Amino acid sequence: MTYRNFSLNQLQEMDAAHHLHPFTDHEDLRAAGSRIISRANGPFVYDTEGREILDGMAGLWCVNVGYGRDELAEVAHEQMKELPYYNSFFRCSTPTPVLLSQRLAEIAPANINQVFYGSSGSEANDTALRLVRHYWALEGKPEKNRIISRNWAYHGSTVAATSLGGMGAMHGQLYGAVPNIDHVMPPYAFELREAGESDHDFGLRAAKAVEDAILEAGPENVAAFIGEPVMGAGGVKIPPESYWPEIDRICKKYDVLLMLDEVITGYGRTGAWFAAERLGLQPDTITTAKALTSGYQPLSALLVGDRIAETLVKKGGEFFHGYTYSGHPVACAVALKNLEIIEREGLVERVRTDTGPYLAETLQARLGGHGIVGEVRSFGLMAAIEIVADKETRKRFPGEGAAASCVRDHAIDGGMMMRAVGDTMILSPPLIWTRETIDMACDRIETALNRAE
Ligand code: PLP
Repeated sequence: MTYRNFSLNQLQEMDAAHHLHPFTDHEDLRAAGSRIISRANGPFVYDTEGREILDGMAGLWCVNVGYGRDELAEVAHEQMKELPYYNSFFRCSTPTPVLLSQRLAEIAPANINQVFYGSSGSEANDTALRLVRHYWALEGKPEKNRIISRNWAYHGSTVAATSLGGMGAMHGQLYGAVPNIDHVMPPYAFELREAGESDHDFGLRAAKAVEDAILEAGPENVAAFIGEPVMGAGGVKIPPESYWPEIDRICKKYDVLLMLDEVITGYGRTGAWFAAERLGLQPDTITTAKALTSGYQPLSALLVGDRIAETLVKKGGEFFHGYTYSGHPVACAVALKNLEIIEREGLVERVRTDTGPYLAETLQARLGGHGIVGEVRSFGLMAAIEIVADKETRKRFPGEGAAASCVRDHAIDGGMMMRAVGDTMILSPPLIWTRETIDMACDRIETALNRAE
């Protein structure tokens, strides 16, 4: 059976009848009809009607090497023929997770040499939560189990990951949150910096909120702090430079583990293999997924620092945790090839020295002065455009998120795939974008802003 035997209308009807979508208002979806993307190549995706759309989101922050990579399809095909599946439980292993773990240890910060696999970022964060609590229990401090996180954080959709996250609508007690997780203010200067406060001081104040939470709970009860180096799904909230060094200092002072969620920032997006490297951090865990395979296969890797790994190995007994697809041989084969492509094509370096700075300059020069843009900001190849009704006061348009959704719809109609998070427009393109692609994107975004104004 192929979708080509069906008209767009038929596909939309079947979709509405049988397919529950993630993060979707289904009434709205039925009224509008889903946009069905049926193929993709390089930086472009195409819908069933053949319309070409420049993908400013790399799928969902993941297709870092772009679409249409034959090498990734071939390596998956070869691996499926040789060994489509076997587990890594019960003293077994398969070759590709072994090789991948070795490679990840090479590119991770120096204190990280072990990897635990899952299929999604959410699963990896579940693993991380259990692992840090397990660590402190093995160290004889089971009461040291509170985790500090931030409002607006996104760590995934499972019950543990939503509990770690700080998104209002997802977080409700309705779903049965995991206990002993506290949330503090995020370093979101655009909305939270006070009049007259410098970026530097704001960063320190946001970090102090973490210290206050640790002191309130009692450091002897706090296991870890978790954060995305740059909050992605919460709206590409880029912390001031003072923030992360201060968080690092606070974690060390109170012997609180540092957990970075690099599901978005990992594998080149910030111009380093991991944002940890750019920020000079040596975290105890790094959660990664998405661009590990450039989205060609579902795979996550929780990178585990020596401190936790050594305790787990030496004092551990069995860690009662794992997934059928932990270390899936096909996904790991694709990841290895994907990392090879990123390295061979110098994509990390390109983001750091060329496209990252060019995106920052160009967004500022082309869109920063636009009448409904309150701020543009970027970090490597992730960017945000704040939509406001009044540039000076930063007052938003009425109806939270309506204005940015309107810009997004105009952008997609004009051949530019973007996301709107509340009143913030988001960009997170494949790392294969060139200066020319950035120019093309800015043209299309500018047109969308003009139409929405
Ligand atoms: N962590 C972060 C920072 C994310 O952005 C996401 C997804 O967008 C996740 C975790 C969850 O990953 P997944 O959707 O693969 O479960």
